[in-house]
Amino acid sequence: MINIDIINMLYILSAILFIFGLKMLSNQKTARKGNMVSAIGMLFAIIGALVSNNVLQWQWIALGIIAGSIVGAVASRIVAMTAMPEMVALFNGFGGAASLLVGWVEYQKYYSEGTLNQATIFSLLIIIITILIGGITFTGSIIAWGKLSGKIPSKPIKYTGQQIVNFSLLVLLIIGTLLFAPFRDLQIIGSYPLLGIIIVLSCILGITFVIPIGGGDMPVVISLLNSFSGMAASAAGFVISNNVLVVAGALVGSSGIILTTIMCKAMNRKLSNVLFSGFGSGTSSKKNAGFKGEANPISIEDAYLILEAASNVLIVPGYGMAVAQAQHAVQELAAQLEANGAEVNFAIHPVAGRMPGHMNVLLAEANVPYEKLKEMDDVNPTIENVDVVIVIGANDVVNPAARTDKDSPIYGMPVINVDKARTVIVMKRSLNPGFAGIDNPLFFNENTRMLFGDAKKSTQGLVAEFKG
Ligand code: NDP
Repeated sequence: MINIDIINMLYILSAILFIFGLKMLSNQKTARKGNMVSAIGMLFAIIGALVSNNVLQWQWIALGIIAGSIVGAVASRIVAMTAMPEMVALFNGFGGAASLLVGWVEYQKYYSEGTLNQATIFSLLIIIITILIGGITFTGSIIAWGKLSGKIPSKPIKYTGQQIVNFSLLVLLIIGTLLFAPFRDLQIIGSYPLLGIIIVLSCILGITFVIPIGGGDMPVVISLLNSFSGMAASAAGFVISNNVLVVAGALVGSSGIILTTIMCKAMNRKLSNVLFSGFGSGTSSKKNAGFKGEANPISIEDAYLILEAASNVLIVPGYGMAVAQAQHAVQELAAQLEANGAEVNFAIHPVAGRMPGHMNVLLAEANVPYEKLKEMDDVNPTIENVDVVIVIGANDVVNPAARTDKDSPIYGMPVINVDKARTVIVMKRSLNPGFAGIDNPLFFNENTRMLFGDAKKSTQGLVAEFKG
């Protein structure tokens, strides 16, 4: 048996590595190293857990490590960049389920040993909190995964009295949690029936909590569920007295909450509004009203002529760039524009794409220098001076209705004000709406030209024109 001090040293070391890793993730230049540093931290945490005297059956541990490694390695190869948010949702869900099971197993241990009466109130309370948050996170994340992957409709599902149902479930769960420790004194059955009720109700609450949320609010929910999974893991750390799990869970829980707050700010929405108001539920009949007209299509050759004359170009990427995998072609286009004497920058909206940082990751993959990526708040004040904005597969994040149409479901959400630039070239395949399902008046503006087609092919066409 290894000295407990050595194990705790390993845990402290891994906690330090987690914190440094997280810090490094906040900068694109150091992000890869940050990932590696955190992974090494996780290695120390695993070694610490394995050499502690808690391992009873090595064969199960080995089986878990092999199965987990295979799934992780295969998933990292086959899951497309565009499907990352779904994968994060699944990870969160499995994290929640794992915490629920850890809490349950710990309860079962007391139950089968007949020592429920000797368990402290704190132990039982923390067990039931782990189970409760784990259950909500599990089913909530599975619903989020279904919505993001299109397995179930991404639109909010609403019904009369929904909030009362959710609130009642929450109250019942709080009452159940408070009664859980006193109920252990019941003869023979202990608090098992109550445990069962809490597991079922928390799983139901996870579903009822996420189904009314949809559209542009999904990233916030994913990030909130991420935070829940961290809290559940932290509580599970208390349950099994594992310090590093407490710390790692707390880090995930708090960073998830910070990210949730940042995203709410980016969308100019309060968290309560996101959770309870049902984005894009179709209650507004004027959802897509207020702008009619003809979009002005443009050919690659004509778009080239406009770009060739521009001395200042801003590229605004969105989800369509990810779908088309156009990032390398976009980088090439930027290089051609610069070679032609234009100043080129990229404007990144905080919720462009399907996950926070989606565009940053893609552009980094294509070696676009980090300094060229500008935040929305930095470009908006001077966007009137931009000669040409090229919108590549972005839609919701450049929708001026967010600024001008009070009836729009995204009214108030900060967007990149591309419509204020001198000329806007929009690359997409059709006039179809984006993720939020709402039309975009930008496409009908006088200074907008629609370059219809796949973003990669159009961009490559422009590059060929420059080269040709
Ligand atoms: P949008 O989803 O609003 O629009 C993407 C556009 O890309 C579509 O309108 C589509 O138009 C076009 N497109 C798709 N494929 C291609 C292709 N091959 N070539 C060219 N265009 C293509 O994307 P945005 O990035 O503007 O906005 C992100 C949205 O997703 C926001 O509503 C945000 O709230 C939400 N969201 C964001 C998350 C995040 O964390 N970033 C997570 C979940 C949701 P067409 O079909 O005509 O080609």
